[in-house]
Amino acid sequence: MDNNYLAELLFGDIKTTPEDMFAKYPARTLPDKAAVTRFAPSPTGFMHIGGLYAALISMCMARQSDGVFYLRLEDTDKKREIEHGADEIITSLAQYGVCFDEGAAADGEAEKGSYGPYRQSMRKEIYQTFAKDLVKRGLAYPCFCSAEELDEIRKAQEAEKADMGYYGSYAKCRNLSIEEIEANIKAGKEYVLRLRSDGNAENKITCRDLIRGNIEMPENIMDVVLLKSDGIPTYHFAHVVDDFLMGTTHVIRGDEWISSYPLHEQLFRASGLKMPKYAHIAPIMKLDGGENKKRKLSKRKDPEAAVGFYAEQGFPSVSVLEYLMTIANSNYEEWHAAHADKTIDDFTLSLKKMPVSGALFDMVKLNDVSKEMISKLTAEECYDLIMEWAKEHDENIYTFGTQDKDGFMKTINLWKMSGKKVRKDVGKWSDLRAMFGYLYTPEDELDLQYEIDEKYTPEMITEVIEEYKKDLFLDSEDWFSSMKVMGEKIGYCPNVKEYKQNPDGYKGSITDVCTIVRVAITGKQNSPDLFTIMNVIGKDKTMGRLDKFLAWVNR
Ligand code: GLU
Repeated sequence: MDNNYLAELLFGDIKTTPEDMFAKYPARTLPDKAAVTRFAPSPTGFMHIGGLYAALISMCMARQSDGVFYLRLEDTDKKREIEHGADEIITSLAQYGVCFDEGAAADGEAEKGSYGPYRQSMRKEIYQTFAKDLVKRGLAYPCFCSAEELDEIRKAQEAEKADMGYYGSYAKCRNLSIEEIEANIKAGKEYVLRLRSDGNAENKITCRDLIRGNIEMPENIMDVVLLKSDGIPTYHFAHVVDDFLMGTTHVIRGDEWISSYPLHEQLFRASGLKMPKYAHIAPIMKLDGGENKKRKLSKRKDPEAAVGFYAEQGFPSVSVLEYLMTIANSNYEEWHAAHADKTIDDFTLSLKKMPVSGALFDMVKLNDVSKEMISKLTAEECYDLIMEWAKEHDENIYTFGTQDKDGFMKTINLWKMSGKKVRKDVGKWSDLRAMFGYLYTPEDELDLQYEIDEKYTPEMITEVIEEYKKDLFLDSEDWFSSMKVMGEKIGYCPNVKEYKQNPDGYKGSITDVCTIVRVAITGKQNSPDLFTIMNVIGKDKTMGRLDKFLAWVNR
């Protein structure tokens, strides 16, 4: 067979050679240890939390070695692609501080970097250059099998209990003569380009995975499709060409690709290209049913699989990143506790220390990590983040915060601090309303569920509230002292210790007076500083809540 003739027949319009490509995309000049990593998503409009995790790890590896981290859009599957998919990826990652040194840009913006184009759909000629070269060297061939023919092969393999796939003697088009090929092409038959595999299943190859160590696997024997019938490459072929030309040193990708490694190794070898290093990340899992029933977070079943879920719930992005880092390297948490003033950028991520089996995504842990992160933010930082979140997700909080910033800052300080002590109650901004509805819910929507001890009889409550309504002491320098005086007037001991010594001499103590008022205002027997709460909500609303409580008690 004249391979040169075949190459011209299939790729007559490709005039470039691999050498031209090597000249156009020369090796990067970076320090020895610099890692060139990439995030290579398909723009399907859905950012999986596992995607953010992988991107974060790739970014850390590049940053900590003064390397390069770039974005490549694997947009060869036009059916799955959505409009503005790139924009969505770039903006949602940017919210987490995951930014690229080079690569694909949002629609309408210029790409950064000299190894582009960084969208696979724009690299057809590059792939075909390498495909043509493989054909020239007898390492790839056109396959004209129709869907029906492939189905027949499958059936035969089933009957013979043979391995499935297009290989060996099942590879019908492997040895077509040039005349047959030419006739097929003339007849307008569609074809794909396949690798002519030289693999032998008896032979083993080793993947030196940077996370898992050495993995032995049989050589690839499949004549895998390299170019689809429209001339667009499959992931396998595009990966090899792109990661070589773009100078990737570390391919960090999901472990679902481990089984393709033998094929990739073979493709690099066949194309005469140097292989990068590989690290296969274990997926993020969740428990489903029993103790040991783990499964991958599913786009369809689990809302928490989407990065957008965390934004919607109001987890600050630093919390999500912090949590992902604790999954990535279990020593991260201890490191950060010991170096409270440092950030992720100061940490040296180790691929070797990454988990090899699927890490469980633990919502409770995320919440705890987030409480810790929020407790470290200043009130002003909280304000900015809450407003950014509320703008899209909580209209009432947004209106409150923008119209009365001073009042809103007071509410932040209420749940952030307890005297001089920092509180760690809030893990996400949607907690605000769930935990402090009495501060953040508009008065006409507020439906307090009163939690009050039975020892407070309707008579006691009515008396305390009626008395309190006479003066709320909201302008008082010392609200608590005023409350003591008021309580004493109606038979409540101003001093708790004294009351305990002589409980029969009083109706109760100042604590009981305050509890009754607290329940009226917040629904709960415990709350942050009540005086501040009433000042924030104001005199009218406070009065309204007292009346509402009275009506409820005497219903
Ligand atoms: N587009 C592939 C994916 O989303 C990329 C895998 C890789 O990083 O090489 O799974």
